Amino acid sequence: RALVPRHPPLNMMSLCTLRSPALRCTVFAVAQHRDGLRRMSTATKPRLGFVGMGIMGTAMSLNLVKAGYNVTVWNRNAAKCQPLTAAGATMAKSPKEVVQTTDITFGMLSDPEAAHAVALGPDGIVEGISSGKGYVDVSTVDAETAKAIEAAIKAKGGKFLEAPVSGSKGPAEQGTLIFLTGGDKELFDAATPALDVMGKANFFLGEAGKGAHMKLVVNMVMGSMMAAFAEGLTLAEQSGLQKKDLLDVISLGAITSPMFSLKGPAMADRKYPTAFPLKHQQKDMRLAIALGEQLAQATPVAAAANEMYKSAKANGHGDADFSAVLEALLAKK
Ligand code: NAP
Repeated sequence: RALVPRHPPLNMMSLCTLRSPALRCTVFAVAQHRDGLRRMSTATKPRLGFVGMGIMGTAMSLNLVKAGYNVTVWNRNAAKCQPLTAAGATMAKSPKEVVQTTDITFGMLSDPEAAHAVALGPDGIVEGISSGKGYVDVSTVDAETAKAIEAAIKAKGGKFLEAPVSGSKGPAEQGTLIFLTGGDKELFDAATPALDVMGKANFFLGEAGKGAHMKLVVNMVMGSMMAAFAEGLTLAEQSGLQKKDLLDVISLGAITSPMFSLKGPAMADRKYPTAFPLKHQQKDMRLAIALGEQLAQATPVAAAANEMYKSAKANGHGDADFSAVLEALLAKK
């Protein structure tokens, strides 16, 4: 219900393709809009801030700089701002300073604790926010965290939008993320051109917390899929099958998935180059299961998968890609 056609004016062809399939229409619209963005001068664009230069934040903010935005960045470990300043961004001393010197600030932090610290802590986002400014938190957190940050920002007269992303390091680099948003609709509209630089689709889902719920459900499914895939690879090998043959069989059938095709060959070699850190996937399983508990909704498959992520993390694979969940099946403890 909420796929937002984001790029007026769309021509007749794109209006027709809006009806179906939705994704093709969206990609088409993005292509049109990007041409528009290239023609737009920096002066007509809002000044943007970005806090959190991790795997995702670095790639996303670089795309904003490349699209011609005036971007101010901050990271707890300042050295990670270097690729951005080299590309033309300005570095600020604190999240507060980022917000004070920009119109819309994005935050991409690891977990609820980090999102709280950067938004509500000393020299944080809330200290710098005021009427006319907006904060868009694109981190994956729980709904309670999103709502707490929203309340503090609103109390200072600012606007808040949660906008966690579906998509990993590759889509972040390619500008093809999917934003799952909730909160202030005016801020959503104002941030849409920047979201369109970083992604291929935006969903406005209603009040703050809905985006978090959608993101946690999606990552719960993804985490369970990956755990089952790892189990299959391991069992295939133990039964004397070639893992490559299993990958080929899966790729030809109804359970094929871009994720299995992308990660499978490296997993077969027990290699896990980090795109999505396993510690963050385990955090998302934990938060999704907690959501299930709040709602008295059973999540038995996710609960079992979560034990595998916990085990892999405990065995030192937290910073590896989440596909390293396979190691939980080989671990001694
Ligand atoms: P990451 O590379 O681990 O980056 C985490 C960022 O959070 C870093 O900038 C880190 O700063 C900062 N941070 C952590 N604790 C902090 C604190 N207490 N105070 C201030 N800053 C703090 O993670 P990522 O992969 O970019 O993921 C970021 C978020 O996006 C997570 O919520 C994750 O679940 C979500 N996500 C990730 C992916 C993916 O594929 N990677 C995909 C979708 C969503 P330092 O550099 O100083 O440590």
